[in-house]
Amino acid sequence: MARVLFINGGSEGHINPTIGVVQELISRGEEVVYFAVEDFRERIEKTGATVRTFDGQKFIKAFIAGGRNYLTERINGLLHTADTVIPSVLEQIEEEHFDYIIHDSMFGCGFLLAQILKLPAISSCTSFAQKKEDFDQMLEYLSKKIPAETAAVIHDEYQRLTGAVMEKYGVDIRSPYEVFCNPAPLTIVYTTRAFQPSGEEFDQSYKFVGPSISSPATKDNIDLAAIKGKSPIYISLGTVFNQAIDFYQLCFKAFGNTEHTVIMSIGEKVQLADLGEIPQNFIVKNYVPQTEVLKHTKLFITHGGMNSTNEALYYGVPLIVIPQGADQPIIGGQVAKIGAGITLQMQSLTANQLREAADHVLNEPSFHQAIATIREVFQKSGGSRQAAAEIFEFKNQYDI
Ligand code: UDP
Repeated sequence: MARVLFINGGSEGHINPTIGVVQELISRGEEVVYFAVEDFRERIEKTGATVRTFDGQKFIKAFIAGGRNYLTERINGLLHTADTVIPSVLEQIEEEHFDYIIHDSMFGCGFLLAQILKLPAISSCTSFAQKKEDFDQMLEYLSKKIPAETAAVIHDEYQRLTGAVMEKYGVDIRSPYEVFCNPAPLTIVYTTRAFQPSGEEFDQSYKFVGPSISSPATKDNIDLAAIKGKSPIYISLGTVFNQAIDFYQLCFKAFGNTEHTVIMSIGEKVQLADLGEIPQNFIVKNYVPQTEVLKHTKLFITHGGMNSTNEALYYGVPLIVIPQGADQPIIGGQVAKIGAGITLQMQSLTANQLREAADHVLNEPSFHQAIATIREVFQKSGGSRQAAAEIFEFKNQYDI
């Protein structure tokens, strides 16, 4: 048995795939101490892990303090979170021994903590993996679009923040890549090598284990038995980029009072009452048990979050991806490339277009053929079981 320090942040997309992995590790005898924000305590505790938390409000405030317009600002935002996460984690694990650390590939300052604690590290990557050279290229390209004066301010802030990390924790941050992608000797990626852009270019330190699907946080707010025979269309923009009343109303216009049953998750930031009259063929909720709903879904209209996309491919559901930001345009591009669906642009979208796109995906056999093949590969990839096997292989290499 080894003691594992698990470091994550506070978002559903980064935590969901880890639930199954932690369960697997615990069933193999590992002891896991899992750091995240308080909201996820119950979910994580069910795995058998010991949950410890840091201040979620302060964490979000620190992340946003970096600015939200540019990637370089988000890198600074992640550096700002160091002051919330690191002292709290160090204080709560004082004098405890850990054998290795598993950290999120973005949130929770895992790369820094691994250096501070000198622990063998594994990165848990809930999006597509990124190699340093590709990240650097993207950063350079995006940085060219920033007005020079603003870029200088962001750069000074980066220097100040990395200097403070050096001073407080003795860790030399050598590149923004280390802040944003938290590299480690082993990276677990929750998709397949074939779905990962340029998947063949990643070396053996990247293990593409496939989707790690966990049972949803809530199950009983929807009558799953009732939707079973109905093959609904499912619509969701995920848990972050989901404040989109106009889009939800556009969906009413596209599919209201048609032969389709439609389940729509609108997230916690929009109230049902804000949406006006809800057509009788719609079931609208702030949150639905997505991995259960997808089992019965005939078409998923999604923002193209990595987890939502992996989950849909795992259950063989074709997609219409309407990217809202972050990595979603790239994920949508991959979905279209493998023939599992199409992408649409939010800005110019009309109800007619959406309805026609849905008819196209539902009626065109090539999507269903492609998705059947992908589903098989995804279901065979192993997910959380394979992740645990890779982690144990890593332990062997490090004599843990
Ligand atoms: N999710 C859910 N019910 C909802 C909305 C989302 O269970 O009503 C889950 C979904 O199954 C997925 C995660 O929340 O695991 C969303 O992650 P994703 O990467 O797709 O998008 P994000 O929320 O990070 O933008």
